[in-house]
Amino acid sequence: MIDKNTYPKLTFKDFENIPNVAIHERATAFDDFLNYLDDNGRLNYRLVNQTGCANELTIHGNNSVSDGNYVNFVSNDYLGFTQHPRVKQAAIDAVSMYGTGAGASPAIGGHYSYHQLLENKIAQFFGKTDAILYTTGYTANSATIQALLKKEDIAILDMAVHASIYEGCLTTNVKTFLHNNMEHLEQILKHCQDQYRTKLVIIDGVYSQDGDIAKIKDILQLVKRYGAYLLIDDAHGVGVHGDTGRGILEKEGLLKDDDIIITGVFSKTFGSLGGYVVAEPKLIRLLKFQSRQHLFSVSMPPSQAMAAVQAMALLDEEPQWQAQLWKNIAYYKQGLKSMGFNIGNTESGVIPVKIGDPTLTAKATRILFDKGIYTNCIMYPAVAKKDARIRMSMMATHSIEQLDQALNAFDLMNAKLQIANKPSL
Ligand code: PMP
Repeated sequence: MIDKNTYPKLTFKDFENIPNVAIHERATAFDDFLNYLDDNGRLNYRLVNQTGCANELTIHGNNSVSDGNYVNFVSNDYLGFTQHPRVKQAAIDAVSMYGTGAGASPAIGGHYSYHQLLENKIAQFFGKTDAILYTTGYTANSATIQALLKKEDIAILDMAVHASIYEGCLTTNVKTFLHNNMEHLEQILKHCQDQYRTKLVIIDGVYSQDGDIAKIKDILQLVKRYGAYLLIDDAHGVGVHGDTGRGILEKEGLLKDDDIIITGVFSKTFGSLGGYVVAEPKLIRLLKFQSRQHLFSVSMPPSQAMAAVQAMALLDEEPQWQAQLWKNIAYYKQGLKSMGFNIGNTESGVIPVKIGDPTLTAKATRILFDKGIYTNCIMYPAVAKKDARIRMSMMATHSIEQLDQALNAFDLMNAKLQIANKPSL
């Protein structure tokens, strides 16, 4: 079994498979470890938020954390649309008209006019004709890759892609290239030449833990040179990047390339739930009839579909939110940098403060929390073992006062833990 003295060094992953230990004993061992983390103030998970997703939230009802109000840096609601009156009203109206659920999977009776509307809207959003919806963004990725790639094929992943992409690759061949490293990608593509039926390179537009963006132009050149295809998950780029919020493809002038398979979510900028794939019509049709999650899992509820339709309209009609988000990002990044914190290469609404040591990162997160600043402490396996960081998501609706409150909390935290390097003058 697991030696309790090793607890300080362990992570959840160490409890995934304990040799010769069956499920109930494994649950007991894990329970003991969770209690240890809780007793040491390291179990900052599943805090009960009473107020909903907004720039400030109230936490109440936990055993080990203080109840109170917190500035929210943990929601990917970049434009604040979960609270926008028009988005809320669209959801309410949809419930009044259509009820609360879809009742079946899309293939067998669960495809409604509001789904068709959303499918059309998201295809048009990228200037294309066809799209498919999934009930979560996670499934959009995993289902698509599972349906497209089989044993004769290979997925070539940037190592920093989202977990849902790794999940989609469980039944095909996989190779990962070092994050945004073109030499390594080319090496793999060369090595795979003629060996596989389909080679699909998969990247995120914006990387969810570092906030940096894909070198997509260089990647696309390599993809074409070696006869591969490209899938981009732009969950964190849409609504944030590009002059009209169409994401990294718009920013890089690549929206016209019809060979790129685009996946994304309605759960971040669009303040709702669900995922989508936009690609050439025949490929979308194949997914509609061959992806298991589309055949066997219920479609998204009317409220969420219509909230997403409304949020997409708002992005065009109220561009001030996207502009304000970028003002907030610039102000906050400058504040953190001037104190000497390492924020890596972020160019998006995701801002990490890279610390490295997991215990120190947990302490820093806790100090910020005690000062009313709710951030995420990110550790292995979400990132490499020595790459722990505080991760924050910016919102257009954060006020300058809230950003200053957070920057002051970072300053106080640093006075205690000495994490930041002095900025070079
Ligand atoms: N892709 C990326 C890059 C993500 O960050 C996430 C969510 N964390 C997903 C996909 C999954 O989306 P959802 O939460 O809507 O299922």
